[in-house]
Amino acid sequence: MMSSLSSQTSALLASLDIPEGYYTQGTRVVTSPLTGEEIARVAEVTSQDATTRIGASVTAFQAWRQVPAPRRGELVRLLGEELRAGKKTLGQLVSLEAGKSPSEGLGEVQEMIDICDFAVGLSRQLYGLTIPSERPDHRLTEQWHPMGPIGIISAFNFPVAVWCWNAALALVCGDPVIWKPSEKTPLTALATQALFLRAAARFGDAPADLSTVLIGGRAIGELLADDARVPVISATGSTRMGRWVGERVARRFGRSILELGGNNASIVTPSADLDLTLRAVAFSAMGTAGQRCTTLRRLLVHSSVYDQLVSKLVNVYRTISVSNPLEGNALVGPLIDEAAFTAMQTSLEAARAAGGTIHGGERENVNGAGSFYVRPALVEMTSQTGPVLEETFAPILYVMKYDTLADAIALQNDVPQGLSSSIFSTDIRDIELFLSSRGSDCGIANVNMGPSGAEIGGAFGGEKETGGGRESGSDAWKGYMRRQTNAINYGRTLPLAQGVKFDI
Ligand code: NAD
Repeated sequence: MMSSLSSQTSALLASLDIPEGYYTQGTRVVTSPLTGEEIARVAEVTSQDATTRIGASVTAFQAWRQVPAPRRGELVRLLGEELRAGKKTLGQLVSLEAGKSPSEGLGEVQEMIDICDFAVGLSRQLYGLTIPSERPDHRLTEQWHPMGPIGIISAFNFPVAVWCWNAALALVCGDPVIWKPSEKTPLTALATQALFLRAAARFGDAPADLSTVLIGGRAIGELLADDARVPVISATGSTRMGRWVGERVARRFGRSILELGGNNASIVTPSADLDLTLRAVAFSAMGTAGQRCTTLRRLLVHSSVYDQLVSKLVNVYRTISVSNPLEGNALVGPLIDEAAFTAMQTSLEAARAAGGTIHGGERENVNGAGSFYVRPALVEMTSQTGPVLEETFAPILYVMKYDTLADAIALQNDVPQGLSSSIFSTDIRDIELFLSSRGSDCGIANVNMGPSGAEIGGAFGGEKETGGGRESGSDAWKGYMRRQTNAINYGRTLPLAQGVKFDI
């Protein structure tokens, strides 16, 4: 008999006109982290299929690059409309497949809609430059051209938004997309593709294979990364994955956009508004069960406010609701799988061995043996060592005391990752120092909010082992295009640059 989650999943997929065989026949079993139940079986592509479909994407590129950018924007506008119409369905699927709360599932789809809106405007703003030439009767310009198929490798924790950050920009830039979603979340990828196909059908003359989904595991990701017909690989996931992908793509002189792990810190200064800090820390550290790349993992608290803040935090950790978010309004849902639970316990053991005092972290018996719910862990550490230097993708918050802001900034930066960071302060000097070149070394530095969660308008990404990539807003679109400098001589002589003479 089909489980209730399985029938809910099937009904949602069927409502998007996805043929039943796509999610009932196949070798890859998809389970819901909410209960551990099997909810679908999907077929994986073979290497041969993947290679053929990359070829089809190249053919799509040859047509799509000739479509004027504002017209390409029209397709993305229609995609945004389909996402609006399908928001509830796709949001529910995100909850079922990735275990997010309904509000976070819907929020993820909203993020897709937002980036579509952004990209539509961008389709009329892919600006080049006019540069003064040093030569008479010459003009120097810079323009941007489409690149080719963009490979998108994505992680389980933002199973659909990451595709859209990349795809909405890539499509207006004139590039088809080839998506290798996480093997843990293939259903939301199928659903997203169904919405894209609806938009493409309404658009009318979009080339076939403008968007391709390759369901598969690591081997398919590697195949994509190695294929020289794919000039850009945008890879989101662990640093381990990014190191492999980055090296392989560089070997063939491709371009990679790497969005990898974070080890994000917040600094709480003596002047901080502690009520606001408490709420921001709770969301940033425990939201999405600690499974966001921007999750708050290290809290650096000034010794003058440490006891006051940490005693309240310990209480929040003890009482926060941990349960199936579809059955109530729990704020903390499940971990993605058993491996995530084991990794969390291993890190807690290491923290204990390094002298940490642990509050929480135990497994909660919510839905039986197949699902993994945990009470978030707050760990008081006397030094930044051992597991504190790593990203454990689970709700563990390491708390440490500091005495000077310079010490706190040094601690905040003294980890291999550089994604997101924040400061809680009402002292403008502390805030500006944190934001200055001597301050946070991260790609994202926030004030009076946690490091978690970003708006699409800014460029998203981080430094060091986070990979250096930027996606989403600002000028991240340049990562999906190639720059061309044009020098044009409209005179009758041939002056050479730098005054070089070559008279024949
Ligand atoms: P993961 O690295 O296990 O997998 C991510 C994707 O990479 C999957 O699609 C997987 O199949 C693929 N993959 C794995 N090895 C590969 C290889 N050698 N070649 C090509 N593809 C390969 O990550 P995960 O567990 O799904 O996600 C959690 C991680 O993702 C965390 O480290 C988190 O911080 C990171 N993340 C980063 C961002 C960001 O924007 N910086 C956003 C979301 C998640």
